Amino acid sequence: MKQDLLNDPVFGMAAEQFDRVADFLKLEEQVRERCKWPKRLITVSLPVTMDDGRTEVFFGHRVQHHLSRGPVKGGLRFHPKVNLGEVAALAMWMNWKCALMGLPYGGGKGGIMCDPRTMSAGEQERLTRRFAQEIGQFIGPEVDVMAPDVGTNAQHMAWILDTYSTREGRFVPEVITGKPVELQGSEGRTQATGHGVAFLATRALNKLNIPVQGASAVIQGFGNVGSYAASTMAFYGMKVRGISDITGAIWNSSGIDPAALRKHVAETGGVARFPEAEAINAEELLLQECDVLVPAALERVITAENAPDLKCRILAEAANGPTTPEADAIIEERGDIFLLPDVLCNAGGVTVSYFEWVQNLQRFSWTKKEVLSKLETKLNEAFERLLSFTSEKSCSHRLGALALGVETVARVKKTRGLFP
Ligand code: NAD
Repeated sequence: MKQDLLNDPVFGMAAEQFDRVADFLKLEEQVRERCKWPKRLITVSLPVTMDDGRTEVFFGHRVQHHLSRGPVKGGLRFHPKVNLGEVAALAMWMNWKCALMGLPYGGGKGGIMCDPRTMSAGEQERLTRRFAQEIGQFIGPEVDVMAPDVGTNAQHMAWILDTYSTREGRFVPEVITGKPVELQGSEGRTQATGHGVAFLATRALNKLNIPVQGASAVIQGFGNVGSYAASTMAFYGMKVRGISDITGAIWNSSGIDPAALRKHVAETGGVARFPEAEAINAEELLLQECDVLVPAALERVITAENAPDLKCRILAEAANGPTTPEADAIIEERGDIFLLPDVLCNAGGVTVSYFEWVQNLQRFSWTKKEVLSKLETKLNEAFERLLSFTSEKSCSHRLGALALGVETVARVKKTRGLFP
């Protein structure tokens, strides 16, 4: 069974969502199968010398879901629980996201099973460079362009850029996005995903006639996405009352200052014990009354257990796959939560990655203001397209967003023929 190769609950969830959408779109069997299964699943072993002199062998995966509409695009994750099925699910979601946003890419994703929190910078550099070397023959500016994800950042992208460029014998900035600006990264890329989440939250607040000024938010995860979502929301005049990360959860009903919290995290390694807020149970945090709830950490955190008790008006899915299909059904049935589905809500990252790639190919750079303004235009277009589609078809935002993406990919596959 094909499914056995990708035996993982996250892949099961992505496949179940796809099957629902394919039924809704009445996709022909032949196109349906080709849209569902990944084109390439690549696993490499990565022997790395650790600081204590041992050689440790890690596994790295890269899944290229399809290359029918252009190179694949997607992040590289460092996390102890990474496995091939999870990576394949994340690659599948990237497809629908790129298609929904009108970006000329297929979906890809990568991951290395490791715990960066317990590794030195030198160990992380050797692991990243080894991965870039082993995967080098399968990636490239017109084939597969990686970017940061959970556990990786601009420095990891710089190591990949350097290893790939050394291999090619020339500087190839367009092989990777999310790299430092001095290596031809794009202005605005670091904050793009969080900025997009906050921007879309304001669009949803507008639709619900809730004033942005003073609207309340709760955010799970204070990494790249969660921290920039918090800063942009505070900039818009919203109050971020609760925030959590792996170290704990904190609450201040008058609003948490994201800049002060960022400083505390840099000094202590996490949000726990932030002096300007009180501790709160991490599970309870998700159930607090708020206008916007933002899961910005990992998958499958909104479940059948907590979905009936959510007290938010808007669920802004900054993470990929934070809501299980069972929870989705409950939220749809409740009908009182405005869902910003992940493939739209966190699309700011891949959109500015696309801008970065375009700037690199043209050897040209845009200002941060230009980048963020072009990003808002693209997100707003996709948001309005989604709302028109869901109102015309009387379907949920989840189904609508996935359907807009899947339909585009299916049409391209059908038009091109059997090979891609
Ligand atoms: P990150 O590694 O920078 O941050 C992850 C955060 O989640 C950290 O603060 C960590 O402490 C926290 N966390 C981990 N486990 C937790 C738990 N059990 N409870 C609460 N917090 C927990 O990662 P990121 O880049 O911010 O990515 C977060 C999510 O956004 C992921 O789902 C990722 O796929 C998605 N995403 C990221 C980007 C991007 O540009 N970085 C783009 C699109 C989507």
